[in-house]
Amino acid sequence: MPDLHEKLAPIFDEVVARNPGEAEFHQAVHEVLESIGPVVSANPEYTDAEVIRRLCEPERQIIFRVPWTDDSGKVQLNRGFRVEFNSALGPYKGGLRFHPSVYLGIIKFLGFEQIFKNSLTGMPIGGGKGGSDFDPKGKSDAEVMRFCQSFMTELYRHLGEYTDVPAGDIGVGGREIGYLFGHYKRITNRYESGVLTGKGLTWGGSRVRVEATGYGTAFFVADMLAQEGSSFEGRQVVVSGAGNVAIYAIEKVHQMGGKVVACSDSNGYVMDPAGIDLDLLKEIKEAKRGRLTEYAERIGSRVKYVSDGSIWDVPCEIALPCATQNELNAAGAERLIANGCQIVAEGANMPTTPEAIRLLQSAGVKFAPGKAANAGGVATSALEMQQNASRDSWSFEYTEERLAEIMRSIHTRCLETAETFGAPGDYVVGANIAGFTQVADAMLALGII
Ligand code: NDP
Repeated sequence: MPDLHEKLAPIFDEVVARNPGEAEFHQAVHEVLESIGPVVSANPEYTDAEVIRRLCEPERQIIFRVPWTDDSGKVQLNRGFRVEFNSALGPYKGGLRFHPSVYLGIIKFLGFEQIFKNSLTGMPIGGGKGGSDFDPKGKSDAEVMRFCQSFMTELYRHLGEYTDVPAGDIGVGGREIGYLFGHYKRITNRYESGVLTGKGLTWGGSRVRVEATGYGTAFFVADMLAQEGSSFEGRQVVVSGAGNVAIYAIEKVHQMGGKVVACSDSNGYVMDPAGIDLDLLKEIKEAKRGRLTEYAERIGSRVKYVSDGSIWDVPCEIALPCATQNELNAAGAERLIANGCQIVAEGANMPTTPEAIRLLQSAGVKFAPGKAANAGGVATSALEMQQNASRDSWSFEYTEERLAEIMRSIHTRCLETAETFGAPGDYVVGANIAGFTQVADAMLALGII
């Protein structure tokens, strides 16, 4: 790992010592601290007021028992988390993840990233994240509902439209948000629409929220391409994942003239030289929660299914990792570089390992970090909160234009900030510094809290 600024190295050591065994959290903190050295040199007030040490310590961490009963009547037990990381800019905002790999370190890395991402959107939202080690795969709807109700029975006391506003993430989509919102409404006796985002359109949701993260990532890449006078037209693209973010990234790339030739799930990837058939993908993954093997079986010999390889072996000009953290490692980066990839933009949170980022950047591949490229999801959640607060409902076209505008403004802020701090074209430096300074200035203004 590269050396940190002399005032930041001891802070990082302290983070590691205070949060043992939380490798993903350490990685997320290091990545931000690597970028902000020049800001710290120019602004001693940040370290004088211990802004960075305070930023690395969540305001509140909630861990709770989630007991529930499965369909056979057996009692099951999971652990729930909500890390309310930073509320300098607004109520805590960030999704809930249900996946067996969830533990405190994952939620803290996601919550930490969320602070800077939310700041970059320019909207009044703080950073938080939550979830559980519950695995929705293979569970009946009734089991998922009972789990969500038990989860909310504890979580509700920490939430509120002015306090903490969760949304979805891996394993949490419209079905789960419905059960969570229904139970919140029942136990509080309040129809408080602004307490959760990602709601259905008939009960307070926003148009474009389902599509927002994937569309936003595609918009961001379109802005990167426009910078060099280019576009998606005729470009070959690879998207990892086959969930919410991946599906809508593929949809928008296709609408903008690109061709996505591969996508993946946790069992393997499909390579379809004709371009991914989105209707079929949605039917299998969204409607039936099925596997990609079915995609290969249904289309036939044109499609190659690979269960033990890496999707980054598939040649492309643009790669969009949209599945999960650390899925694109050094070996994957080397394959992408060897195959002539020019742009990597993160639809997922921290999908690229630090070593892979260094390899890509030194090979001249343009790299957009998740906190900038996937901020469209949370930005549209904030638009959903605006609609809830004004009891309004906007059209698809208007909401999508707002999303595109926000992504353009994040793109511009990243480039301008990188330029100001002597790293022209470096989206990592631009995103980290621009996200950091806004939160740090607010923390200074709010006093030692
Ligand atoms: P989904 O649950 O809808 O989809 C996740 C996809 O990634 C699935 O295809 C899943 O495969 C695959 N996947 C999950 N875990 C692994 C793993 N350990 N190894 C390989 N593949 C895996 O989640 P989302 O699409 O919502 O989220 C994807 C990423 O985007 C996450 O990093 C999330 O934090 C980030 N993100 C999401 C936002 C949103 O609005 N939803 C907003 C911003 C970021 P399978 O089908 O086999 O489970």
